[in-house]
Amino acid sequence: MLSSNLNLQVLAISPGIAVGRVQPVRRKSSSGVPVLQEIAPAMVENELARLEQSIRTTRNQLQALKERVSEKLKTDDVGILDAHLLLVDDLALRREVEQRIREKHWTAEYSLYDTAEHFARVFANMQDEYLKERAVDIRDVSDRLLRNLSAPEEVKDDRDDHRIIVANTLTPSETAGLDSNKILGFAIETGSATCHTAILARSMRLPAVAGVPAEIINTLSAEDKLIIDGFSGRLIINPDARTEESYRLRARSAVAFYNQLEQDKKLRPETTDGFEIELAINVGSVEQISELKTAGASGVGLLRTEFLFFGENSVPDEESQFEVYRKLLTLAGDAPVTVRTMDIGGDKLDNNIFRSSEANPFLGLRGIRLCLYERMDLFKTQLRALLRAGVFGNLRIMFPMVSSVLEVLEVKKVIASVQQELADEKREFLRKPVIGVMIETPAAALMADELGKLVDFFSIGTNDLVQYTMAIDRGNERVAYLYKPAHPAILKLISLCVAAAHKNNIYVGVCGQMASEPELVPLLVGLGVHELSMDPGAVPLIRRVIRGLSLFEAQRTAAEAMMCPNAAESLRVSLALLKRLAPDLFEALQKNENITSKEKI
Ligand code: PEP
Ligand code: MG
Repeated sequence: MLSSNLNLQVLAISPGIAVGRVQPVRRKSSSGVPVLQEIAPAMVENELARLEQSIRTTRNQLQALKERVSEKLKTDDVGILDAHLLLVDDLALRREVEQRIREKHWTAEYSLYDTAEHFARVFANMQDEYLKERAVDIRDVSDRLLRNLSAPEEVKDDRDDHRIIVANTLTPSETAGLDSNKILGFAIETGSATCHTAILARSMRLPAVAGVPAEIINTLSAEDKLIIDGFSGRLIINPDARTEESYRLRARSAVAFYNQLEQDKKLRPETTDGFEIELAINVGSVEQISELKTAGASGVGLLRTEFLFFGENSVPDEESQFEVYRKLLTLAGDAPVTVRTMDIGGDKLDNNIFRSSEANPFLGLRGIRLCLYERMDLFKTQLRALLRAGVFGNLRIMFPMVSSVLEVLEVKKVIASVQQELADEKREFLRKPVIGVMIETPAAALMADELGKLVDFFSIGTNDLVQYTMAIDRGNERVAYLYKPAHPAILKLISLCVAAAHKNNIYVGVCGQMASEPELVPLLVGLGVHELSMDPGAVPLIRRVIRGLSLFEAQRTAAEAMMCPNAAESLRVSLALLKRLAPDLFEALQKNENITSKEKI
């Protein structure tokens, strides 16, 4: 058990306060090496079953991969996958792993890692170049087996009491699999406010922090008690009674503050000089549509369809997708629902179907690239389902990760061909779909004028726009200090994009995390965006911010912020406006630490 009242400043990634005991999830250290951990003898059978399951999944994945690539690759290259398949079923290797689990009582992860390393080293030391290479294959297969051992089930909480999950990493699909009725929140090592794990945490209303040092994660046990403060990014280990009580009080006061904001939900989100901003919500499931009403939002600004498919072993076929989209659109009534086509890639690689081994996944075959250049089959199925469901509501379709005008032209051709197919089959479908692109790459922002001629709307994905402009991996807590949406470079790109939208007479929204940050909203309003789309929980607060602003002043502030030399200055300018125009709100936000930690940038 760690010493009491250890107080650490880490990263706030999902707001709220949680107090409770630890549920440790140990897999790998940040170096990728599993932690050497012993298990109770009673757990041996469980570990063996996990190993068996991982072997099965790995075999299936490799077989599926082989089928997929066999048309494209030379026979020799497909042979590599055959060799990997043989390794997966290698009896000698397997016996060694099982022996370590049974006799040394190590976890399946560590037993697998230790065995694979032993064999890999033997091969690596051989003289023969061909045999030397086998070390790489062994490590490759063992990595895949290890990843498959980290199945979502592993982080499910089977204890009776409510706990705080502590882990080195949680993948988006593992997070989506958490039971938010049983889990109080989580503290992880790797991650940042805009990684998809954090996005899911916010939509599940789970307080969370990231950037917790590995030594702490690896030492915390089920006996330890934690406080996680997802507003200010503090982690307190084994708090004394006074600290715990003060945090419980703060948690209650934060709830009271948000409850009070919710009473305004019927009020229009307009500035004091009468300019209305559309407030929309970001959702990742059908159930979340009900939040439209709860939040008092005007529509769905972003439906992340890839989240709908997490947990499935295969992407649903056209009929199942059609049913889901139809239900969503019907439930939303007249409200617009902006559905984003699958954005697989980046940190969303953990779905069995899309596991890929790119060296730089965020710069790889992600989003529209994957759809157009590798999985046209999935793309067409999704478009067919969407176009058919579109007749049941107010659908808008948007495309992620666009970086060139040619991609949009290609997308339009695919839509036309899918429409032709549907017409030939005499089906009902949307003849004139409203389509838009996400502005998430600097290239798209710089080409917005041309893109604007081809589409009906823009949605600025600031999470990625910041990532690609600042050249930082959005999930890497070590460069999170550079993640600055208020950076003048970002404001200039947004401004270009808004100007192009206005010129082309199309509307422009922001659906990245920036839209739900109270201190950044004055800048977005001043830059001239029409819609802000955010986690449903943020709508009441952002409505209050907008109602405190004047468009005229916001425009002046945004212009001044763009001229600033750095993010700290532009943020200061924005906060100064908020403080001047909405002093009560500013004070309440500071008290709840919604903004103070960021002010120190
Ligand atoms: C974004 O990049 O801002 C965005 C909304 O998309 P995602 O977070 O899903 O990448
Ligand atoms: Mg994005």
